[in-house]
Amino acid sequence: MNRGDAGQMATVSIVIPVYNEEAALEPFHTELAKTIGSLPFSFDFYYVDDGSTDETAGILRRLSEADSRVHAIRLSRNFGHQAALTAGLDHASGDILITLDADGQHPPGLIPQMLDLYQSGCDIVLTQRIDEGEQSIFKRGSSAVFYWLLNRLGDTHILPGAADFRLMSREVVDSLKGMREYHRFLRGMVAWLGYRTVIIPYVPSPRIAGSSKYSLRKMVRLAMDAVFSFSLAPLQIGLTLGLFFFVLAIVEVIYVLSFWVRGRADLLAPGWSSLMFMILIVGGVLTTVLGFIGVYVGYIFQEVKGRPVYVARKSEKTESQESSQERKP
Ligand code: UDP
Ligand code: MG
Repeated sequence: MNRGDAGQMATVSIVIPVYNEEAALEPFHTELAKTIGSLPFSFDFYYVDDGSTDETAGILRRLSEADSRVHAIRLSRNFGHQAALTAGLDHASGDILITLDADGQHPPGLIPQMLDLYQSGCDIVLTQRIDEGEQSIFKRGSSAVFYWLLNRLGDTHILPGAADFRLMSREVVDSLKGMREYHRFLRGMVAWLGYRTVIIPYVPSPRIAGSSKYSLRKMVRLAMDAVFSFSLAPLQIGLTLGLFFFVLAIVEVIYVLSFWVRGRADLLAPGWSSLMFMILIVGGVLTTVLGFIGVYVGYIFQEVKGRPVYVARKSEKTESQESSQERKP
């Protein structure tokens, strides 16, 4: 529907990935429903249960029985936050989509402002954390270094402190759905798409209940997906290092030859330490370069396998929809 089309009420689909959020889910949904209650849009909710092992599935069933606007998509196991978001985007049918976390850290109170910006012509409304006082020093520090590095390495500018709390128009979502890569870093993919984008800063609220579901392992995996999917810089760094040491080796040969030419080869002391140094350095560079190449080969391997990003279980409400994300070769 057109933004200016006052005769029709646009549908807003809210996509929420959930993983073991039994304690936060109900208060979150109550707050969300209250916030959107008076807005002049028709809303529906797509909760994606990312293979939770606690009471999350039961709570979602109850919520969807009590409110027909609530849809629950259940993945067959834990596929991760980005895959869960993708599942939600694939299933949601609204004219406007908003994604946010189920733990209350993305304040639903921002939704009216996001929709106002959409109405005024923006295709994407991004949110940016401005005060991370609630987060640990480790999380803040690692996030700062990560975005600094990412924006130095890649060609796509990715907003530091960007959250997966954003609004997208139907057109943007359809374009995003065309990007079927396995290693997904949605913040970068949305930035890559372009479109009229506006950023609103927000102060994250404290988590409603429970603890972060982003383990260190998941954070490292997301960071790797971001770096290796958005830049070839590690390969270029490897190549530069390799070339540098190649030039160094040539200089060394010329230096040694100069002694032979002058007939003073006897001055060349058997340089065990310098030799070892060179061997180690060159060995190190080679292993690093090979490591980088190895990672890319691994990523290519996973892409060509063409596996779906997630597998959704069939349920009454989603039976008619495709059960897993198709990926075109
Ligand atoms: N989440 C998910 N799958 C995962 C990890 C997290 O769907 O494997 C959900 C989680 O339930 C929450 C959102 O993604 O709604 C963000 O996770 P979390 O709040 O734990 O991350 P943090 O805010 O600590 O970075
Ligand atoms: Mg959170």
